[in-house]
Amino acid sequence: SDHSLEYPAEPGLMYWASLYPAFAVDEEMKDAPAQAEEQEQGEKAVARRKTSKQVEIADIGCGFGGLLFALAPRFPDTLLLGMEIRTSVTEFVQEKARALRNQNASSGLYQNVACLRANSMKFLPNFFVKGQLSKIFLCFPDPHFKARKHKARIVSTTLNSEYAYVLRPGGIVYTITDVEDLHNWMVEHFTNHPSFERIPDEELESDECVSVMMTETEEGKKVTRNGGKKFVACFRRPEDPPWP
Ligand code: SAM
Repeated sequence: SDHSLEYPAEPGLMYWASLYPAFAVDEEMKDAPAQAEEQEQGEKAVARRKTSKQVEIADIGCGFGGLLFALAPRFPDTLLLGMEIRTSVTEFVQEKARALRNQNASSGLYQNVACLRANSMKFLPNFFVKGQLSKIFLCFPDPHFKARKHKARIVSTTLNSEYAYVLRPGGIVYTITDVEDLHNWMVEHFTNHPSFERIPDEELESDECVSVMMTETEEGKKVTRNGGKKFVACFRRPEDPPWP
C-alpha cells in the first residue's frame, strides 16, 4: 500500500543523484553537516544530492522498462524516469539499468535512465515541478474494464490536470493501448481538457518516439505476438496564452 511508499514532500527534497550518479553535482552543505561526505579538516562539506539536469521524460507505469531502455540511448543528454508501483518490477528495471551502465561504461550510455517505485496517481507533483517534463508516456495502462473501476484509470480529468501541471508548454503526452474502449476514453478525456490538444496522426509519423513506443514496450511486444491492434493518441500542452 501507499504507506510503504517513500516520496519527497516536494521535488527539491528528492535525492536525484542517487538515481543518476553520473549527473551528480557537488553542493556545499551549510546546514546539514551530518549528510556531508567525509571531509579533510578545513575542506568544505559537500553533498551530492542534486543532478546537473532535471528529469524531462517520464514513463508512467513503466513495467519492465522496455520503452525507457530503447529511448535512453536516443536521448543521451536527457534524464528519463520510469515510475512503477510494483516493487519487484521496479527492482528489475533498476537492476537492468545498473547492468546496462556497467556494460556501456566506456560510452557512458544508460546513465540517464532510472526507475522509481511510486504511485503516480497520487504523488506526481511531489516529484516534478511545474513545467518540468517535455514528454510523458502512458503505455498500455491497466484497462480497468468495469465502469465502477474507471476511477482507477490513470487518465481522468483530475489526473490530466496534474499531467498538464508537470508538463512544459509544448510538451507531449503519448498514449498507446490495445483496448479500444480505453483508447476512446483517453482521447475523450484529453481532448475535453482545456490544457491539451490532440496532435494529428500525420504529425506523429515523423516522431520517432511514437514508433519506439509501438514496438519496444513489453506489453506492445505481447500485443504484436498475439496479432492485436494498437491504438495511439498523442496530446500537446499548448503554449501558455499571452496575457491579455
Ligand atoms: N508500460 C508498460 C508496457 O507497456 O509494457 C507496462 C504496462 S502494464 C499493463 C501497466 C503497468 O502500470 C504495470 O506494471 C503496473 O504495475 C503499473 N501501474 C499501475 N498503476 C500504477 C500507478 N498508480 N503508479 C505507477 N505504476 C502503476
